[in-house]
Formats: sequence, C-alpha cells, structure tokens
Amino acid sequence: MSAVYFHIPFCKQACHYCNFHFSTSLKYKDELIAAMHKEVLLRKDELPETPLDSIYFGGGTPSLLSPAEIGSLIATVKNHFQLNPEVEVTLEMNPDDYRDGYFEEIKAAGVNRLSVGVQSFMDGELMDMNRAHNAKEAFDMMYEVKKYFTNFSLDLIYGVPWSSMSTWQKNIALALGFDPPHISSYALTIEPKTVLAKQVADDKVKLPHEETIAEQFDLLVEMLTSKGYDHYELSSFALPGYHSVNNSAYWQGKPYLGIGPSAHSFYQNQRSWNLSNNKQYIKKINKGKLPIEREQLTLVDQYNEFVMTGLRTSSGVALNEIKNRFGDKFAELFEKQVDKHLARYHLYWDGDTVKVTKQAKFLVDGIASDLFLLNL
Ligand code: SF4
Repeated sequence: MSAVYFHIPFCKQACHYCNFHFSTSLKYKDELIAAMHKEVLLRKDELPETPLDSIYFGGGTPSLLSPAEIGSLIATVKNHFQLNPEVEVTLEMNPDDYRDGYFEEIKAAGVNRLSVGVQSFMDGELMDMNRAHNAKEAFDMMYEVKKYFTNFSLDLIYGVPWSSMSTWQKNIALALGFDPPHISSYALTIEPKTVLAKQVADDKVKLPHEETIAEQFDLLVEMLTSKGYDHYELSSFALPGYHSVNNSAYWQGKPYLGIGPSAHSFYQNQRSWNLSNNKQYIKKINKGKLPIEREQLTLVDQYNEFVMTGLRTSSGVALNEIKNRFGDKFAELFEKQVDKHLARYHLYWDGDTVKVTKQAKFLVDGIASDLFLLNL
C-alpha cells in the first residue's frame, strides 16, 4: 500500500484560523503545476514498487485548478506508478468553486472521491472564519455532490467563535441530512500568526469555553455513532466501507510521496518535507534539484509515532506489536507508563491492546504525549 499526495498551494482568501501553506495569488500557478509534474519524475523511485492505493489533492484549495490541470497530474502519476485498479482519487473542494458541469469534468479527469470543506452551514460562522463561501453555496453544492458521487467526505469545524451547543447540534444535523459516507471534524485551534490569534489576543473574538468544546466533541461522537458511523480516528467518522484510504495510509505508517510546496513524504522511516515557498520551489525543481529536507526517524521517534497514531485510531496500541517492532524493553516501559491512565479510566485493555476510553477521547493527544519516550 502506498499513496501520492499533491499540495495545491493556492486559496481565494485566507481563512482566519489557517496556517497552512498557500498563496492568494495565482501568479505562479502554471509554472507551479509544471514543476509538480517534474517533481513526480524526479522522485518516482522514492516509493516501493507496490500499486498506489490513493492519489490525494489537498491544500490549499485544489478545486482552484481546472479539471484539465487535475487530470494531467493524475495522468503523470499513472505514467510512472503502478495503480491499484480500485485507486481512490480524492479532490478537496470548497463550495464556492462549484459551477455547472464541474463534476462531470473532474470525474472524467479521474477523480472518484470528494472532500468538501463545508466547515459550517451558518452564515455568521462562515463569515467569522472568513471562509470564501456562504451557507447557500454549501447547501447547493452538497445537493450536487450527492447526484454525482457515492464516495465523499464533508468537513465540519467545532469550537467556532460564538458557537453554542445548539448551533453545533444544528450543524451536525444539517450535515447528516446529506448522508455523507465520511465526515471529518476538527476543533478550531488558535495557530500562531493567524488573524484569529490576533482577534483573540485583542479580545475581539470569543471562543467557546474548553468544557463547551469538549461537550461539542462528545455530541459529535454521539450523534454520528448513533447513525452507524465508525469513529475510526479522533477526527474521522465513516460509514462501513468508506474509511479514507489516504489517511489510513498515514496512520498505518505506509509509504507516501508528497508533491508540491510544503508537502510531506514518508518512506523507510524517513520523513521529508518540501520547502514552503512557491517561487523557490519552482526555481529549485527547474534546476533539477529537490526542494527538500529529510529526517531519519530514530527507533524512539518511531515508537512515539506508533503510540500517538495507535491511540488516536480505533485500532489502539497492541503490546505484541510493540514487542515485535521495538523490542521487550519498549513493551515493559509501555506497560508501566499506561498504569496511571488505566487508573483514571482514560485507557483500557482490550485483550492485548490498549485503547482510549470513550470519555477520554478528547484528551488523547495529551495522554499520548505523556507516554512518549525521550530516549531509551
Ligand atoms: S481554504 Fe483551506 S487552506 Fe485555504 S485558507 Fe481556508 S482553511 Fe486554509
């Protein structure tokens, strides 16, 4: 199993909370796409010779690219990699980019899954976040998505400024009205150097209380699991058969190749990331050089990642797997360290596997970091 990810670093406008790498100018779009094709060629031997299970267009806003541009990138991947006949090809899309005929064109280009950045169905919340779309555009687009795609995901954000339990409940119910096979939902976080960080510091925006955010998360889990969704990762919910192939590859430590500025890659315990600058990225690639930094993960780094992703996903952390992959000493330490979290009912044993209890799911990142090792 392996995957290719394209980071499309353009957005119409900057959402107030976002610190991803993107530019609001399309000035270098053509050069950048040409450079991405070249990067695929330069790095085609960096994945094992197993068929690709996923091609994913994220960003940024990939739906700012034309279907022909998306199709040409898919074709380049097809020319250089073996593809699983069932390969999942996902396009992240924002509602304001929808136009008549778009879905026929991107399906013809090879996209078979959409990930729609709805975030909220309330105009006030969308405006507060400075999203480029309004609620009507979100509804209109979702009706169209349902006509053309059986496999799609819908993104929602909780912990939004001024939100309450009732506005959040309404948002979840409206999302469920579209029967999305997959929902990703994240808590709004205050990232440094964002407009939101400044607004909060200046007291111009009020985020809900920590307890309200935790309650919003609990409500999300309750409403979705009661409708048959599998809560398979902290932020991810899927109906049977609709787990995200791309994200599952990350969580299972499978190799993936990230193409484009700021994209990350992983193979043979080496993590690498491209520089986050469109102009410099193009310049380097055009000279035949990779705009990349690499880091070899130590055994302790690998163990820490294994614990974090295991606890965040429904698979949990299997003691036997720790023994096999990292050795007895790691397993002994793990058993000792989980004790205090077992006593607090934050973790429990499910056979040989440690999992997070329902009531502690929202705290999982803190619990996992507490189990991290600094060295051995
Ligand atoms: S559209 Fe997505 S990537 Fe672009 S600014 Fe908004 S949240 Fe960030």
